[in-house]
Amino acid sequence: MMNQSVEMSHLADQVVDNKAVNSHWEEWKAKYGEGAAALLSGAMALGAWFVTDLWPIFSIILYSAAFIVGGYVKAKEGLETLVKEKDLDVNLLMIVAALGAASIGYWAEGAMLIFIFALSGALETYTMNKSSRDISALMDLKPENARVIREGQEMLVSIEALQIDDVLLVKPGERVPADGMVTEGSSSINQASITGESIPVDKMVGDEVFAGTLNGEGVIFIQVTKTSESSLFSKIIRMVQEAQQEMPKSQVFVEKFERMYARIIILATSLLIVVPPLVFQDTWSAALYRAMVFIVVASPCALAASIMPAMLSAISNSARKGLLFKGGAHIENLSRVKAIAFDKTGTLTIGHPVVAEVVSYQGLTSQEVLEIAASLESYSNHPIAKAIVDHAGSDALQGHSISDFQSITGFGLQANRNGIAWKVGKPAFMESDYLFENIMLDIERMENEGKTLVVLQNPSGIAGIIALQDQIRPDTSRVIRDLKAIGIHTIMLTGDQQKTAEAIGRQAGIQQVYADLLPEDKLSIIKQLKQSHHYVAMVGDGVNDAPALATASVGIAMGAGGSDVALETADLVLMNDDLSKLRDAIILGRRSRRIVKQNLVFSITVIVALIATNFISGIPLPLGVVGHEGSTILVILNGLRLLR
Ligand code: ADP
Ligand code: MG
Repeated sequence: MMNQSVEMSHLADQVVDNKAVNSHWEEWKAKYGEGAAALLSGAMALGAWFVTDLWPIFSIILYSAAFIVGGYVKAKEGLETLVKEKDLDVNLLMIVAALGAASIGYWAEGAMLIFIFALSGALETYTMNKSSRDISALMDLKPENARVIREGQEMLVSIEALQIDDVLLVKPGERVPADGMVTEGSSSINQASITGESIPVDKMVGDEVFAGTLNGEGVIFIQVTKTSESSLFSKIIRMVQEAQQEMPKSQVFVEKFERMYARIIILATSLLIVVPPLVFQDTWSAALYRAMVFIVVASPCALAASIMPAMLSAISNSARKGLLFKGGAHIENLSRVKAIAFDKTGTLTIGHPVVAEVVSYQGLTSQEVLEIAASLESYSNHPIAKAIVDHAGSDALQGHSISDFQSITGFGLQANRNGIAWKVGKPAFMESDYLFENIMLDIERMENEGKTLVVLQNPSGIAGIIALQDQIRPDTSRVIRDLKAIGIHTIMLTGDQQKTAEAIGRQAGIQQVYADLLPEDKLSIIKQLKQSHHYVAMVGDGVNDAPALATASVGIAMGAGGSDVALETADLVLMNDDLSKLRDAIILGRRSRRIVKQNLVFSITVIVALIATNFISGIPLPLGVVGHEGSTILVILNGLRLLR
């Protein structure tokens, strides 16, 4: 498994290297090649048409060239499907139709077919490339940093600036920023991004870790063995590829249908060629002509182009708004969503709570309680942890030895500090024997004020309580109101306690509040909600939200403040943590579903009408070509409307 993963990361390097040596010509070819070939083919066909009577031989040569230039890409795709998958697709049908037309002397019609077909292919490639570019541009919004320890100080450095032998700190739920070796601490690491195996692997001092894998609940220090400008980039490439390969259900259906349909057409065409001359003494050339018209009008090109260009345009459009969809399927799912569940801390709230009150016991001062909490929390990346560290100031972090750090998702953390075992987290995480009456009274009082409590416990009992007040995001209540206005039921899921949850829920205008949840509770509530609302989205930021994000019909992560695990698990990332974009995304999803529906109805109607007319009265080949290819182009252009 190790070997495989190392090989995989080499592969990623190669992709990047190749990219770097790409000449301008290669770039130009990738961007405009297909369009240019289509236009050139059209121009040659036009030239050939003009000189048909003057120089018949030259005209045919020019037509042939137009066929080759315009049909090359599609013919290659069609042959690949035939050879690799032993199957027929529209590409091959169209090429066969064009060649068939030429074989009975209809060069101009064949060339026109090739030209428009190449043009629609170029349009599709254009949308594909555009969405790739728009997605890549998004990733600049989230530069990847690593925590480097230099001269005993922790600092954030962009991963491009990492050097071999740098020592990095990786907190729970963070992505490993570079390949390296564990020098301190231990944790379990999810290596699914490189091995595909999502069961975490335990890593201890001396073990190798790989860039892009996800740290679990422990803290590790690693020494960089290989700098990795490539890791982010290879991840982007993978994401983009995922986005374009992950087809919506409707597209999967259309493609299956298309393959079966292509076989029926080939069969029907053969019958049309053979039966009339043999049975009705028709001429071979008349039969061939009708068969070619049939193959052209019956080919499901417009059907095939009904969905993907629309989806890719929607992906591009949302990318420019700061919404990263990881695939067309998620747009379709989002358009069906009837209920959205929100995490509280970091999602509905800003996630930078402020310390409002500190209570101390065991003869400690408030400042001491804060400093102890801060030194432990400095290894956690929970929003609460950041708040406590900020409040205590960086001096609090100096001169302690912290070991055996373990984050307990949904509860808090535990670790040894200067040899003493500490637990820091919510009241329910503490030993109940230690919660004496006076302490319980303090807890209840502060909980009633809607504060989030962080309790500290050592082997002698409860040492202190820190009460934090989180702030709801300024636009949260408007966002919730807007969502309700478009018929979405809103729910809050939080690991925080009931009273605090209710207070925030009321301020936000949330319809249903669930509190005191562990990560697995969030997951099971999503499952329940799916039974009553069918399509349910979940928005979250934390490690504790990941299981729920994975289970929801659409998992949505907060991009800027969210943990890497949440980003990795989600189907849609709100790059700027801007909840108001949710409504836009749903509306765009609904719009694209409407457009896809229009396209499907339109293309099927045109095909049926053309086939029927061809059987009843016969259609001239040029009209068949225009009707068929015209509808294909229209359908693509209709999809491209989603770019705006
Ligand atoms: P939410 O669902 O609101 O995002 P979490 O499930 O992440 O909240 O956390 C639930 C509760 O567990 C928090 O309200 C807090 O009391 C406690 N907790 C979690 N992580 C920590 C931590 N690093 N330090 C202190 N308390 C924590
Ligand atoms: Mg959260």
